[in-house]
Amino acid sequence: MANLIDGKAVSAAVKAQVKTECEALKSEGVTVGLAVVIVGDNPASRVYVNNKKKACAEVGFESYEYALPEETTQQELLELVDKLNGDSKVNGILVQLPLPRHIDENAVINAISPVKDVDAFHPRNVGHIMIGDYAFLPCTPAGVMELIASTGVEVEGKNCVVIGRSNIVGKPMAMLLLHKNGTVTITHSRTKNLKEICAGADILVAAVGKAGFVTEDMVKPGAVVIDVGMNRNAEGKLCGDVDFEACKEKARYITPVPGGVGPMTIAMLMRNTLTAARIQRK
Ligand code: NAP
Repeated sequence: MANLIDGKAVSAAVKAQVKTECEALKSEGVTVGLAVVIVGDNPASRVYVNNKKKACAEVGFESYEYALPEETTQQELLELVDKLNGDSKVNGILVQLPLPRHIDENAVINAISPVKDVDAFHPRNVGHIMIGDYAFLPCTPAGVMELIASTGVEVEGKNCVVIGRSNIVGKPMAMLLLHKNGTVTITHSRTKNLKEICAGADILVAAVGKAGFVTEDMVKPGAVVIDVGMNRNAEGKLCGDVDFEACKEKARYITPVPGGVGPMTIAMLMRNTLTAARIQRK
């Protein structure tokens, strides 16, 4: 039976550290601020935005919410981003994705000042991540790295398999594992022999978006299994990509859903916002 990786505890430790550093900045007259922009009324996005605002309050940041109607034009959103880029109270800008279909997400991401891009989605920050010289890391993969570190398992020399190649999870995840000297395989929907590849992983990260996708036969005995997936099962209950009950018998460490990667994403957003405030102070 695997050890559970407790995302709630690890994220609480990250946030406590951010809070201490935020208090130190406050004593020097610096207030940290995060602008959160939401367009439309996607219920999942609303939950994420509320959680982000709650985390800001917890660590001592100011949060500024901009809730725009669904029919907001791309031009109006770009104008808001431009205004926030120039607002010295705002250290980080987060535009909650997905955006309504009529808005080009890339255009919006590209408009965010790279020093306020606390999601680390701007191509300039993506480039920095690629070459291993970065201020911000994308929140979810950075959170996964913290969870792996919490197990004490070294990434160096390990076979690491990432399932999924999205720009926000899979690709940066693979890059971070590579920076830690893992031997990394990125897999996706066209990958052949996926089960065999996964079964050779010392560290397996699933970011697919399909409930129960990772079955017990895809897990190497003693592996670290990280479940990024956030899905709803037939009963509407939140669940990951990994068949947790079966895989926990084979893995050495495993993340639960909920309570694994999810809380880390928000904690890393807080860390990035603090980093942004420091960079802008200079
Ligand atoms: P995405 O953009 O939909 O990417 C999914 C990836 O899975 C794609 O690269 C896709 O391959 C691959 N895939 C789909 N079917 C596959 C198959 N049968 N075999 C192998 N690979 C397959 O999703 P995402 O944004 O990366 O998110 C993935 C999951 O993580 C979702 O459940 C999402 O909700 C969750 N998530 C959680 C957090 C968190 O904080 N916990 C944050 C972000 C995302 P192709 O590229 O070939 O299509």
